[in-house]
Amino acid sequence: MRPYSEMTKSELADAKAALFKEYEAYKSLGLKLNMARGKPAPEQLDLSMPMLDVLDSRSDCTSGGVDCRNYGELLGIYEARKLFGELMGISPEETIVVGSASLTFMYDCFCRAMLKGVLGSEKPWCKYDKIKWLCPVPGYDRHFRICEFLGVEMIPVKLTEWGPDMDAVREAVKDETVKGIWCVPKYSNPLGSVYSDECVRELASMETAAKDFRIFWDNAYMVHNVYEDIPMLNILEECKKAGNPDRVYMFGSTSKVTFAGAGVGFFGASKANVEFTEKQIIVESISWDKMNMLRHVRFLKDVDGIKAHMAKHAEIMRPKFDAVLNTFEEKLAGKGCGTWVKPHGGYFVTFIANRGCATRINELVKAAGLTMTGPGATHPYHDDPDDAYLRIAPTYPSAEEVKKAMEIFACAAQIATIEKLEEAL
Ligand code: PLP
Repeated sequence: MRPYSEMTKSELADAKAALFKEYEAYKSLGLKLNMARGKPAPEQLDLSMPMLDVLDSRSDCTSGGVDCRNYGELLGIYEARKLFGELMGISPEETIVVGSASLTFMYDCFCRAMLKGVLGSEKPWCKYDKIKWLCPVPGYDRHFRICEFLGVEMIPVKLTEWGPDMDAVREAVKDETVKGIWCVPKYSNPLGSVYSDECVRELASMETAAKDFRIFWDNAYMVHNVYEDIPMLNILEECKKAGNPDRVYMFGSTSKVTFAGAGVGFFGASKANVEFTEKQIIVESISWDKMNMLRHVRFLKDVDGIKAHMAKHAEIMRPKFDAVLNTFEEKLAGKGCGTWVKPHGGYFVTFIANRGCATRINELVKAAGLTMTGPGATHPYHDDPDDAYLRIAPTYPSAEEVKKAMEIFACAAQIATIEKLEEAL
């Protein structure tokens, strides 16, 4: 198939008419599909139902002599700190197990930094006229929302397949009001990037004008490989080697391992950061849900147990990712309607439409009953200057539904491309 950009005006008109016919047929199906958020499918959640049987009224609810039914152990039960610490590649003493998810704790860490500063801060961050934060794009909308809510100015930096554009990062951190960076280092949301060794080392060792610079290392997808596992360096180790042990805050959760929003969240950092954090969080909590920690440890057992469990998730997810990638290949390859990225893991496929086409594609698919993450969501302030990025979340619907949805999407991408080309004629 020739790219649409090489077609004559009348060829484009013919192609568009045929595509609209196809589109109207899709519309008449009256579909109602929501692919807006990266949610586990019910079958994935079913994998963790036996966790609910791990504890019952006859269970011994102690862990290392601690009665999990009672107050205490603000940093989490030792068994859970050990397990999730090991998952992050760090020691139990560098790990805090918190709440039932991770985003709350990211927000909490940010708020405490604004109100009180972090370890080594000269003053609370809210005392600056303005602080700035680096946001690799495309990125996770909820990270951007935290910055927006707290009045932190976001600076977009381009995310590549192997991490953020480090030239842009190194330049930006010369400004002492740039206090940190969001990173989703493995199978990033949404691009699926995995930070290269070089990138991890540079983030850990680069000179920053702010002495209290923090990397918010949101490793939400650390064990979520769909195709193959891509190894990644341990950022805390690299920060220690570079003489910046306190630079990184690591976050993770079992939201997409066991139950979303009803798993456990965890935080990893230097022992000094953990001690500093403990002194602050003692104000807000006496202890988190240790019964849930106990349930998780007894169900998942060890890191190999988590990996085996995640292999079952991958089995369920892979046909859906295949449905997206195969449909794009079949319907769009060679037509010049945009590009897409095959991720190794995570929850998304990113479609990069031709400049100025994302909004139109979204409009067309929406009218045909397909709800997607809106254009701009992948960028700070909802501002995608190229109007190009669209995030596809294939995990929740069935593979058949994903295939149908992607056929509609491919049809819409072609219509939008032709319309754009016609505008320029
Ligand atoms: N971080 C990233 C990058 C995510 O994509 C998500 C959910 O989609 C979360 C965090 C939310 O994690 P949690 O459920 O642990 O708050």
